[in-house]
Amino acid sequence: MAIVTRRNFVLGLAAAAVVPVPQCSPGSLPDPVPLPDDPFTLGVASGDPAPDGMVLWTRLAPDPLNGGGMPNAAVPVHWELALDPDFVDVIAEADAIADPALAHSVHARAIGLPADTWFWYRFTAAGWTSPVGRTRTAPRPNARPASLRFGVTTCQHYARGYYTAHQNLALEDLDLVTFVGDYIYEANASGPRTHGTPTATTLADYRNRYALYKSDPNLQAAHAAFPWMVTWDDHEVVNNYAGDADSSGTSTTAFLERRAQAYQAWYEHQPVMLPGGASPRFDIYRMLVWGKLARMAILDGRQFRTPYRCGSGGGALCEAMAGNDVTMLGTAQEQWLASNLAAAPATWHAIAQQTVMTPFAPSTVGSGVNLDQWDGYPAARSRMFDLLEHPAVTNPVVLTGDIHCAIALDMHRDGNVANPKVATELVAPAVSSTFAAGLEAGFEAGLNARPQTRHVNAHQRGYLTCEVTPDQWVARYRVVDSLVPSSGATTDATIVLDAEG
Ligand code: FE
Ligand code: CA
Repeated sequence: MAIVTRRNFVLGLAAAAVVPVPQCSPGSLPDPVPLPDDPFTLGVASGDPAPDGMVLWTRLAPDPLNGGGMPNAAVPVHWELALDPDFVDVIAEADAIADPALAHSVHARAIGLPADTWFWYRFTAAGWTSPVGRTRTAPRPNARPASLRFGVTTCQHYARGYYTAHQNLALEDLDLVTFVGDYIYEANASGPRTHGTPTATTLADYRNRYALYKSDPNLQAAHAAFPWMVTWDDHEVVNNYAGDADSSGTSTTAFLERRAQAYQAWYEHQPVMLPGGASPRFDIYRMLVWGKLARMAILDGRQFRTPYRCGSGGGALCEAMAGNDVTMLGTAQEQWLASNLAAAPATWHAIAQQTVMTPFAPSTVGSGVNLDQWDGYPAARSRMFDLLEHPAVTNPVVLTGDIHCAIALDMHRDGNVANPKVATELVAPAVSSTFAAGLEAGFEAGLNARPQTRHVNAHQRGYLTCEVTPDQWVARYRVVDSLVPSSGATTDATIVLDAEG
């Protein structure tokens, strides 16, 4: 059965974000373009699994590190989705267009598929065939799945190490991977590997940076193995930006121009269905629904946050950030979260987002905090806690990245463990980004002195896996050696949460 889709919605995506995407009906395909070299150098990916479909992604780039190397013409790309890895039983296929305005990326939405099912997919163009990816649909909304297994990854600085985390992640028994930010790093850097190009500021720069990262075979393997739910943090644009302002005083107009180009490159390289083009605003927040077992909100804590008013790193909270007007998510996203997180019953309610949310003390004016984290946005955190304490939000779990340190934390208001627990926060280790050299042991000691801390490891890289059932949420902190090209993974800590209610 051929499925040619002109529908363009994504389950749970804010309606304002949706505009038609380049797919085509029979007869409207562009003429084939000869491609002398393999265009499938960046692998394949899939994302946003829904009960009836998902997004399939690839990008044609025979010369990936130098702008892609494609002719300036639209190219027809065929995709197939099968019930077996040999494509004997193809149950959906269609044509899509790789548009030069979107770096010849392809975002195809497969729909009408059976729920709770694994598939294999591939693309063909100009006689070339892509690697094969594996993906799946979510269970139906009213289903009671026995489990959800997923990985949580973040902070994959290419120059700081090898993707041994992805090498091992790809071998795990998972349904999907949630990525919570810092997919690329914008600045030039060298270490075990090198970026080799200056700080990215233009669309062409960001495209080449994504192409470098996506050329890594271990990252490609992790994408090919599971669908991903991707959100971003700051380094997809520039370190420590907040809303419409960077941290170096650039004019709003100039910064928004850079941000729009960075966002476009992000879209071009991720398995998400969103409007293309240099948009000033991308509504990327959305909900993953895994039957009645789990709901997971994928949040954007960067684009709509209040710009810093008392500094962006470690510092003292100032009066200007202590008021009720500060926001981490923006009004529209906050309202969307409040009305969608518990819109249907689920045993577990997860929030996948960027920066550490757990307080260690009341955030009062003058208290020393990391101003980039929720500590720097106390009123926004208080509203988030109100939501997490709503009776319908059963068993809340917060998934976090950003800090290049594996941590498990109990969240209590004002950091006072005498107050009821609001949620558990699981901070995933970085894939390869390093913690500030020499400060690891002191940071770990400081956290271990807090009664909220259940696990901390700033020394090692890796990823988190979560095995979620109606009774328990088992989080495993997996660690690797990212300073060698290949290593195994071991479990450094296991955190078990029991479902209540
Ligand atoms: Fe990072
Ligand atoms: Ca970050």
